[in-house]
Amino acid sequence: AALYRVDGWGAPYFAVNNSGNISVRPHGGDTLPHQEIDLLKIVKKASDPKSVGGLGLPLPLIIRLPDVLKNRLESLQSAFDFAIQSQSYDSHYQGVYPVKCNQERFVVEDIVKFGSPFRFGLEAGSKPELLLAMSCLCKGNPDAFLVCNGFKDAEYISLALLARKLALNTVIVLEQEEELDLVIALSQKLSIRPVIGVRAKLRTKHSGHFGSTSGEKGKFGLTTTQILSVVKKLEQVGMLDCFQLLHFHIGSQIPSTGLLADGVGEAAQIYSELVRLGANMQVLDIGGGLGIDYDGTQSGDSDLSVAYGLGEYALAVVQAVKFVCDRKNIKHPVLCSESGRAIVSHHSILIFEAVSATVSKAATMTPLALQCFVDGLTDDARADYRNLTSAAMRGEYETCLLYADQLKQRCVDLFRDGTIGMEHLAAVDALCEFVGKAIGVAEPVKTYHVNLSVFTSVPDFWGIGQLFPIVPIHRLDERPGARGILSDLTCDSDGKINKFIGGEESLLLHEIEGNGGGNGNGPYYLGMFLGGAYEEALGGVHNLFGGPSVVRVSQSDGPHSFAVTRATPGPSCSDVLRVMHHEPELMFETLKHRAEEMMYDDSSDDGESSMDHHHHRGNAAVASCLARSFHNMPYL
Ligand code: PLP
Repeated sequence: AALYRVDGWGAPYFAVNNSGNISVRPHGGDTLPHQEIDLLKIVKKASDPKSVGGLGLPLPLIIRLPDVLKNRLESLQSAFDFAIQSQSYDSHYQGVYPVKCNQERFVVEDIVKFGSPFRFGLEAGSKPELLLAMSCLCKGNPDAFLVCNGFKDAEYISLALLARKLALNTVIVLEQEEELDLVIALSQKLSIRPVIGVRAKLRTKHSGHFGSTSGEKGKFGLTTTQILSVVKKLEQVGMLDCFQLLHFHIGSQIPSTGLLADGVGEAAQIYSELVRLGANMQVLDIGGGLGIDYDGTQSGDSDLSVAYGLGEYALAVVQAVKFVCDRKNIKHPVLCSESGRAIVSHHSILIFEAVSATVSKAATMTPLALQCFVDGLTDDARADYRNLTSAAMRGEYETCLLYADQLKQRCVDLFRDGTIGMEHLAAVDALCEFVGKAIGVAEPVKTYHVNLSVFTSVPDFWGIGQLFPIVPIHRLDERPGARGILSDLTCDSDGKINKFIGGEESLLLHEIEGNGGGNGNGPYYLGMFLGGAYEEALGGVHNLFGGPSVVRVSQSDGPHSFAVTRATPGPSCSDVLRVMHHEPELMFETLKHRAEEMMYDDSSDDGESSMDHHHHRGNAAVASCLARSFHNMPYL
């Protein structure tokens, strides 16, 4: 556990149990010992057709834990409730979930259901997101907010107005000044009184990667001048009472409560100015940005960690708003946040298998081979070799490495010229590896081939270098004996994970046999944690690898018991082909037809009677092989 810092990033949901496996604590800090679930048992049940009740789903696999989702929502709500009570804040907290973080149907439906007792709502940033949010909220609390962000055209705005007509508590948040004219025109045309919000461009700037949307030059939101012009326009058309919400978002992974308090304080000043100018202000929506401690350090000194927990976050918000409102003597607003990452990250775990491990192996060399090697070198290269050996005799190891590198580079150049052959090149590799090993600097890093597509399942690693905790989910009672990087199934050099939490360029892993997993221990499973936000929504189909299989797993009665409440295999080869507008049924017919033609040619020399039989059997075998390939998932 200590090697992988599970206690740091995993608490209170993940720990290591006595069997050396990762265990899930589905209710966070409220989990009783007998409610803990062994993750390996879930994986076995979902994937192993031989285990009792095994579902035989192919890996990679996402394990979705609705209990964790519920606990995250309740913990966030409690953090605000507690801060509000302790500060005698005179209103309440009512959050929304930004569906962009993970639009998966069951994630959104669960959030609406679990959040209903405390009016938890949804945020949408596009028309399809709005449609899904509208339909999900029909089953939610009628007071829950439906916050409409993002670029808006007339169709988006008409839809948002319709949502109000459907008695959904909808707020149209202006991201651009021009949207106001459309809102005014369409609401008059449809005779629907809108509730309008404005996204403010704050001066407070978050300097991390995710802060590029913040500050005066940020991509989104209205400047002070534009907000004043919105007020004026609404006043002119008699709609200033519709202006009820102020929103801002300074970026994801806000590193510290200090920065948060600066942003919230600045927004609270704008809010109070809007009250002074006659707007009917009710809600301050502080956007997303509530962070996750991916590396478990709680340091806040990189995008991977934040220096606060839910309680400190909520307290900083409540105090900053109360301070401004009390000074200006205005009513405390309802507090809304659009926390996405913090709600959904923990609830899903991506499981994949290391199927083989290789280490680039240089050939070994006999003394005779070494002599031949030296004899075949040019004078310069021979001088490097002599310098290398005398540095070794003197025990000057740094110098040894220097000459070894120089010799290697010289030999690569000689190979390029055609002066030396492949055997010489292999021999210099062997010599350099021997020197490295003898000096003890070159612990070879293995490449673990994993049944995964980085582009599909960890797109943020590829796109923005985001790191996630990756840990073997079993054998944690054994000291890992190797270091490895993870290389995926795609034919793309970016399809690898070679940076890990803690700044490491390789991961401590257990030995597995060269090919085909195992080492007598069965498959070697790795888990990627905290990837429940954004990864599923962003993943593409590079090399036509589609998404993973998914199981939904709830804690159930009985010691350490769980129930798989839903199991879905990932997209088949046909499904991913359709994404690129191929027609698998037609492709199947084309290939079958071609096979029939080829087989007819092959068998035309046969005698009449054997031909038909032969032909028929061959066709059936080809058709079933093709059908299987179209039907199965693209993974191993
Ligand atoms: N709200 C808005 C407007 C956003 O742009 C985002 C994400 O970038 C979020 C909320 C969610 O942020 P987070 O996942 O950091 O909570």
